[in-house]
Amino acid sequence: MNIYTNSDSLSLALSTYRDNKKIGFVPTMGALHKGHLSLVQRALQENDWVVVSIFVNPTQFDNAGDLEKYPRTLKEDIGLLSSLKGTILVFTPEISDIYPKKVVSKQFDYGGIEFEMEGKHRKGHFDGVGTIVSFLFKIVQPNFAYFGEKDFQQLQIIKKLVQLEKFQVEIVGCPIIREKNGLAMSSRNKRLSKEQFEKAAMISKTLEEVRKKFKTHTISQLNELVKERFLSNDSIELEYFEIVNEKNLKTAKRKHKKNTYRGFIAAFAGPVRLIDNMPLN
Ligand code: AMP
Repeated sequence: MNIYTNSDSLSLALSTYRDNKKIGFVPTMGALHKGHLSLVQRALQENDWVVVSIFVNPTQFDNAGDLEKYPRTLKEDIGLLSSLKGTILVFTPEISDIYPKKVVSKQFDYGGIEFEMEGKHRKGHFDGVGTIVSFLFKIVQPNFAYFGEKDFQQLQIIKKLVQLEKFQVEIVGCPIIREKNGLAMSSRNKRLSKEQFEKAAMISKTLEEVRKKFKTHTISQLNELVKERFLSNDSIELEYFEIVNEKNLKTAKRKHKKNTYRGFIAAFAGPVRLIDNMPLN
């Protein structure tokens, strides 16, 4: 496993690796866990070389405290990656490499999906995501890039970005990896107390309940049910719950047989913001 700390050295190394070989890419913000590793393992199975980037991208944070407190565990991350079998190139750039002049995002028109859910609650988030992922795709030029359904809206944004920027890469969506108690794995879980960690399991449990009741309940009944579950839990605070049409991420008011729906939750455990989602039909 080799570690590259700037884009020039990575580009140079990749030029020798590229010859008729498949390159897989997994962008991350580090503080790696089994969710990230599942993406890397899939990439290793499907490619000759895999690039894993570790970079906490400031422009996708709308909250200075969240950025400052975001867990950074580079030593442990390198240890986890080196325990995997296969050739991994780790890319850990400095902020000045990605943003040589000003730490600002480019603006993207993703056709409307950027204004739903996370876009409403984290202003500028998807411009930041598009900026960093475009930069990384231009350097790595992967054949396949792997993203988790944990960030389902982000996955749709990336697919749109590939169309917009005409990147020659196939985007592979990967399933959500969960803790034993059902909580979706996340780097931010490292900031939870033991009690918050246990209590936060109600997020996925509530989604699971909605999934089970989806056939027999109306959408407004399900919206009410979720509100009640959170009102009767004083440790986890609901930011939003939405049932959306998977195709355009628009909020569903009524169910239509031909559509596929997904439920999304964002909630706070103290200052820690957690998100999760689940297919419903
Ligand atoms: P992050 O480091 O949070 O930016 O995540 C990097 C990638 O890992 C993104 O594509 C995430 O969707 C994915 N990811 C994060 N957590 C999980 C999880 N629990 N299961 C599957 N993929 C995940």
